[in-house]
Amino acid sequence: MKLFVCDHCGNTVYFENASCERCGHKLGYLPEKNALVSLVESSGLWSTPAFPDDAYVFCENAHHGACNWLIRAEPGGDIYCAACRHNETIPDITNSLNLTRWQVIERAKKRLFYSLLRLRLPVETRNEDPVHGLSFRFLADMPVAGLPVMTGHDSGIITIALAEADDAERESRRAAMGEPYRTLLGHFRHEIGHHYWDLLVEGQPAAQRFTQLFGDASADYGRALEVYYANGAPMGWPQTHISAYATAHPWEDFAETFAHYLHITDTVEMAGAFGVRARPRNQDEHIVVDQVRFDPYMEPDFDVIIDHWVPLASMLNNLNRAMGHPDAYPFILTPQVIEKLAFVNSLVHGAPVQEQLARLDAVG
Ligand SMILES: [Zn+2]
Ligand SMILES: [Zn+2]
Ligand SMILES: [Zn+2]
Repeated sequence: MKLFVCDHCGNTVYFENASCERCGHKLGYLPEKNALVSLVESSGLWSTPAFPDDAYVFCENAHHGACNWLIRAEPGGDIYCAACRHNETIPDITNSLNLTRWQVIERAKKRLFYSLLRLRLPVETRNEDPVHGLSFRFLADMPVAGLPVMTGHDSGIITIALAEADDAERESRRAAMGEPYRTLLGHFRHEIGHHYWDLLVEGQPAAQRFTQLFGDASADYGRALEVYYANGAPMGWPQTHISAYATAHPWEDFAETFAHYLHITDTVEMAGAFGVRARPRNQDEHIVVDQVRFDPYMEPDFDVIIDHWVPLASMLNNLNRAMGHPDAYPFILTPQVIEKLAFVNSLVHGAPVQEQLARLDAVG
């Protein structure tokens, strides 16, 4: 994520801000410009000094405090922004608890879309692609035939259980599952990984290398999950997988890896915005890691990203511990895991996966 500044007064503002705390100007996000702009209203339309020739309206969900994204004002134009137009189902927001939780979910979803747009990944809606289009169902945890809502992905449809927006509930699930990390943004980044497996790996040239790295995706998925929940992850899993759950099935390994790819890329971008230069771990002190002076969302060489990330993650964890918080990044990146992350990097940049991987093979 880049660092946003109010273009009226120069105050540092968050991506989620709907107004500037200092000068009071209304703020809106323009996805096509990747800019958070200050706004002036005139007869129901908004304009910004940054792009004076255009007029904008807020996304319909802004009326519910659930969106700060703008749409170019056009007769008969969209009423939902580039991110909200993918919503298929939202909960009953006349219920105030549902409304609050949905607002929290929307904030995480916007951060997901920031990354997807920066990576220029395909984001077709269900209308544009009825088979694989991307859509979201945000469902309250109402038992259906005795079953709770399950967060998951099915052919482009991502379901998020509304209860995951409740801190106490999510933390209790995290503890019950023995997970080191569980966040709404993490859910979005994981589930979207399944979506891009469908689009970029299945039946594509990358499938062969995927199988070499992640295993045979044709393994019975339902059975694999049963075995995982019965027995847990196999011994020695941290050498080969980013998380215990990633061992359940190659699809889950890919989704977990994809989520981490987004965690890392987005956080390195923010470190770059602050000019952070993290000192490497003790044994690596001879390695000179400069400030982030590249755009991680455009970087074709994953080694460049990871060389910055490893000391940065250590710094983040130590800063968190200084504040009495758990580690921000409670994971270990082994060479095998990094190889999988590099595969995702080449995949999202549309690089010829076979060639890049031939190079990796030659290295080790
Ligand atoms: Zn301001
Ligand atoms: Zn919106
Ligand atoms: Zn999954």
